[in-house]
Amino acid sequence: MILRRILFVQLMVIALLAMMLGPARAESRLDVVATFSILGDMVQQVGGDRVKVTSLVGPDGDTHVYRPTPKAAKAISQTKVLFVNGLEFEGWIKRLVESSGFKGRMVTATVGIEALKMEEEGHHDDHDKHGKKDHHDDHDKHGKKDHHDDHDKHGKKDGHEHHNHGEYDPHAWHSLANARIYVRNIVDGLAAADPQGAKAYRANAERYIKEITSLESEVEKAMKSVSADGRKVVTPHDAFGYLGSAYGIKFLAPVGISTEAEASAGDVAKLIRQIKKEKISAIFVENITDRRLLDQIVRETGARIGGTLYSDALSKANGPAGTYLDLMRHNIRTLVKALGS
Ligand code: ZN
Repeated sequence: MILRRILFVQLMVIALLAMMLGPARAESRLDVVATFSILGDMVQQVGGDRVKVTSLVGPDGDTHVYRPTPKAAKAISQTKVLFVNGLEFEGWIKRLVESSGFKGRMVTATVGIEALKMEEEGHHDDHDKHGKKDHHDDHDKHGKKDHHDDHDKHGKKDGHEHHNHGEYDPHAWHSLANARIYVRNIVDGLAAADPQGAKAYRANAERYIKEITSLESEVEKAMKSVSADGRKVVTPHDAFGYLGSAYGIKFLAPVGISTEAEASAGDVAKLIRQIKKEKISAIFVENITDRRLLDQIVRETGARIGGTLYSDALSKANGPAGTYLDLMRHNIRTLVKALGS
């Protein structure tokens, strides 16, 4: 009997402790927000179990055309740290921050990277024609509000005049060297918001950077099986400039840096001519974009689909690119498999 009573008391104590610790523990985690899933994963890797990350644009989501929800505004109003990619990847963030009453710390993950200027060749000729300067003048003239109204009015068809991107290519995470800079910016942001966790964040970051560096040598080795001539690839939008620049791969796309614009018939015809002329054999689909245009290009060129590349978002957790490192590994494997000898 006595034993049973002791057991009962013990169980009660355990239950009480669980009740006390459960919610308290959840609350003590630092709530942070990242604009998109790839960055969200990097923040989670560095934050570990001290941090709870909400990604505004989730797996397979397209950040370029994202429209903030009331839930996103609420998350931002409550967070202490907001992680953004920067380089105008999140064209909508400024307005969202202003309207949500955000009072925390904003950390831009690309600070300190060597940003690639937008390419001025190929389909980008159109850019030159319209003129970058004019485009920006337009911005200034109409102001931001009008610009957005314009979007709604004209719809996507007039996309060419409404590129919502800046002077630089924002897709900097496709370089593993840049990822190390992202991690350093993330550590500094978390440590400033939660000094007690600084040591843990630094330790997590060290471990993570080691994994990044080891993947980097894996990639360098794998790329050796692809001849310099074979490093020509087509993707739906220009998301892989940093990967291309790291490994000498030429990426061509019917659409530019942002998926907001639609390819014109001229852009597509030009790309088809280029695929035929340069004998580009593999075309890749992306997880965030519609593949209809690529199917048309495949029909007209006889090139084949080499697989899916994860450009601006992770896959679902159980997919092939559930984390940033898996995304990079998957993309390289897919490219090497299609291009390698
Ligand atoms: Zn993109």
